[in-house]
Amino acid sequence: MAFSYSEVEGKRAHDPLMACHHAIRSTKCIWFTGPIIVGAGPSGLAAAACLKERGIPSLILERSNCIASLWQNKTYDRLRLHLPKQFCELPFFPFPKDFPTYPTKQQFVAYLDMFVSQFDLKPFFETTVLSAEFDPICRFWRVKTSSGSKGSVAEYTSRWLIVATGENAEEFVPNLEGMDDFQGSILHTSSYKSGEMFRGKRVLVVGCGNSGMEVSLDLCNHNAQTSIVVRDSLHILPQEMLGTSTFGLCMCLLKWFPAHIVDRLLLLVSYFMIGDTAKYGLHRPKLGPLQLKNKAGKTPVLDVGTLSQIKSGKIEVCPGVKRIRCNSVEFVDGKVDTFDAIILATGYRSNVPLWLKETNMFSIKDGLPKKPFPHTWRGKDGLYSVGFTKRGLLGASMEALKIAEDIELTWKVDMKKCC
Ligand SMILES: Cc1cc2nc3c(=O)[nH]c(=O)nc-3n(C[C@H](O)[C@H](O)[C@H](O)COP(=O)(O)OP(=O)(O)OC[C@H]3O[C@@H](n4cnc5c(N)ncnc54)[C@H](O)[C@@H]3O)c2cc1C
Repeated sequence: MAFSYSEVEGKRAHDPLMACHHAIRSTKCIWFTGPIIVGAGPSGLAAAACLKERGIPSLILERSNCIASLWQNKTYDRLRLHLPKQFCELPFFPFPKDFPTYPTKQQFVAYLDMFVSQFDLKPFFETTVLSAEFDPICRFWRVKTSSGSKGSVAEYTSRWLIVATGENAEEFVPNLEGMDDFQGSILHTSSYKSGEMFRGKRVLVVGCGNSGMEVSLDLCNHNAQTSIVVRDSLHILPQEMLGTSTFGLCMCLLKWFPAHIVDRLLLLVSYFMIGDTAKYGLHRPKLGPLQLKNKAGKTPVLDVGTLSQIKSGKIEVCPGVKRIRCNSVEFVDGKVDTFDAIILATGYRSNVPLWLKETNMFSIKDGLPKKPFPHTWRGKDGLYSVGFTKRGLLGASMEALKIAEDIELTWKVDMKKCC
């Protein structure tokens, strides 16, 4: 049985979480026997469950007041998983059979709630990690947190630190010239819920990834006059092809053929299904979708209906934004249009460099692991990362399993010493 040890009180307890609670109240300096996981999104939960399966307790620290805060608080109402459910499963826990192929966000959150109950995971909510640093003398990680409305500060220490704060921790808001002069509303997709409040309005969506495309469709369905900025080239693929999901087909073909061959097939089938997208201002990159994903981490857009609205002219494609004025936007081709609202579908950034005092594993520039997939998950001195593969939930599940297996090796040695 695992135990926790509060340095100041010198007490040992058989329930690690009880011991932590007890120690927080009295000392604010807490030694935790198992790994500390930062973030209670799907990746952090997956890591905790994999550890639990091996009998290793973990402590999950989460800044918000719920699990999967990205999904619960920062996504739009019509969101469904972009990939079929079998590719979004967390370890040891399939989706319920009666869930559709592409579960809604409410169903995904319900699935995560069931996952948490199944593995009896109890994250510490409203606990923001302010900094984490490896102490080379004691050889453990010091994790400083601020929690509750009063922001009380504590320090947790452990031999292992698992970074699970996600590739989407902070909204990325570009600095567009004249933004402050705009008299309409400007919001990031993380605050967008539905097109209802934009009915009859002229709305510009900046950014054409999966979110930008889907928000444009939602606006269009709510009778907003919708335009979307497509600055760079991009691959749009049908969500399903040849009677199956495009993602599933890729996974299957990649077992037999190299990426450039699969890319050719994808582009050929896409051409027959959706035609030449360049005719609508959506130019394809030179590299095929899978090669581009492998090389630059750029995800192709899986079309859920936006393309047909672009073809019918209900959604207008615009080039890059040059500057914003009080009620209009000037584009790089010199055209000027008036808008009531601008929605920034400009994505997110990792926040790891803001709190992790370590520069070998994570890049300061983008907060992502320096090593490419599949070597993203392990650093030095008991440092791990889960969910930074640019491969969604499938990548996170794979990493969670590897991390637990790796930690178990040192955990067993430690336990023997203690006995
Ligand atoms: C709109 C949208 C749709 C998507 N659809 C899919 C899909 O269909 N399939 C798929 O595989 N992937 C999809 N993704 C990718 C997505 O990143 C993953 O689904 C998933 O949410 C990643 O989980 P995560 O736990 O790594 O990160 P997150 O879900 O972002 O969780 C990280 C957690 O860490 C917490 N945190 C951050 N900083 C701190 C700190 N300093 N201290 C304490 N806690 C902190 C955050 O509050 C958050 O709860 C989608 C992403 C978006 C934005």
